[in-house]
Amino acid sequence: MPVPSIFHDERDCLILALMGRGRLILIRGCMFSGKSERLLDRLHAACAAGRTTAAFKHACDDRYAATQIVTHNKRQADAVAIGSAAQIPNLAANADWIGIDEGQFFGDELVDVCRELVARGCEVVVSGLDLDSWGLPFGPMPALATIADEIVQTHSRCARCGATADHTQRLAPIAGLTMVGGPESYEPRCAACFQAPPAELRR
Ligand SMILES: [Zn+2]
Repeated sequence: MPVPSIFHDERDCLILALMGRGRLILIRGCMFSGKSERLLDRLHAACAAGRTTAAFKHACDDRYAATQIVTHNKRQADAVAIGSAAQIPNLAANADWIGIDEGQFFGDELVDVCRELVARGCEVVVSGLDLDSWGLPFGPMPALATIADEIVQTHSRCARCGATADHTQRLAPIAGLTMVGGPESYEPRCAACFQAPPAELRR
């Protein structure tokens, strides 16, 4: 394939070559389906392979530790807590493997940030909830799915009937769209057992 005319010297051709190496992996599912576990598995594999890694989480997610990704099974890894996805390219300037936990909390700007990191040649792994408490698409997750090179769909067991669960049932009163909480606030449910909260409470 001819090199596009905007790439006219060796340096630009090198950038093109590097662009081909980057990839985006999306790990998505309901709560308690092992998303963060999968993210940590990949992080540890990247470390073992000698990659330069950087891990991020949203600053609003302080359930267990402010500067760590912690799974519901209490596994953990260091992570930088950030308020905006726009911070990632600078903070991860030296990394070639980048993990982002709870991707649904970031706005649509996460999509452009992932594109930029992939173009840079990075392997980017984003984990997050695909559906919110109302069973509706959550934040940038659907858009990320359209550009992901690989999608890992995780499932749990319905807390009511034991069937495969892909919804997250809110048990505690609704306080905004942000879903942060543990087993006291949420449980996995199948589509048949799932009951959405009143639509007017969705913001
Ligand atoms: Zn069920």
